[in-house]
Amino acid sequence: MEASRYLVDVRSILEDLGAVVSVDGTVDLPALEIGTEQYAPLGPAALDVTITNTGAGIVAGGTVTVTVQATCSRCLKQFPLTLNAEVEGFFIPHGSEHEMPEEQDFGFVEDGSVDLMDALLSALALEVPLAPLHAEDCAGICPTCGAELSEGPCECAPSDSNSPFAVLKDLLPEGGGE
Ligand SMILES: [Zn+2]
Ligand SMILES: [Zn+2]
Repeated sequence: MEASRYLVDVRSILEDLGAVVSVDGTVDLPALEIGTEQYAPLGPAALDVTITNTGAGIVAGGTVTVTVQATCSRCLKQFPLTLNAEVEGFFIPHGSEHEMPEEQDFGFVEDGSVDLMDALLSALALEVPLAPLHAEDCAGICPTCGAELSEGPCECAPSDSNSPFAVLKDLLPEGGGE
């Protein structure tokens, strides 16, 4: 499978210091892959990016917003998670890579275009929470019956083993005998 690309034609600004191309619209993204998790987009991403010829290179900056399908880390409910990320990209012509400081990440201007896909996906990946919650106060699920506790208490009797005193009870000798 070919990697997804999002090419923007920058030929109009290549010879023109300070010139700008605006990218304002929507783009279909592949699923975000973070560790073993997949976050499939529920619709196209909205982009508002400005691409500038700064002389040192072609610099992309702006925002991307997309809603993905996520799984609540407490109750396992699927829910829509909206991500809003700052996009940054830096592109140079082939042949000028030796002028770049080692710590500078960059892509290349290829055939008069830059590919923003990497910049979009890595910016969004940074916004995915480590443990997504469908609601801030998600109560999780009952360990006994699996009921969603956010929707109300379940039928299960409160379990003794959840009480801090249950441990103590096991430690104390049964009854008294003398
Ligand atoms: Zn939840
Ligand atoms: Zn229960």
